[in-house]
Amino acid sequence: MFNIGKCNICKQGLLEIVKDENSGKIYICCDECEAEWDCPKDVLSKKNGTRNKCGRIIYPTQEEVLEQRWEVDIYEHHN
Ligand SMILES: [Zn+2]
Repeated sequence: MFNIGKCNICKQGLLEIVKDENSGKIYICCDECEAEWDCPKDVLSKKNGTRNKCGRIIYPTQEEVLEQRWEVDIYEHHN
């Protein structure tokens, strides 16, 4: 699983990179407060996250994450 660092909102959660199972859309979701953002730019600009926008999530592969070409540091973590 991959993340882009700690959540600015709850200061506890990890900003996980997740994928909506139905649409295949890859986005960012905090594993603690469950705020969601479309991309890291939205997180960094401190734009308000949404909640429960997407349905079931799965975790994208490293290739899928890299394909997003997000210009942020990406970290790997394990449960
Ligand atoms: Zn959070």
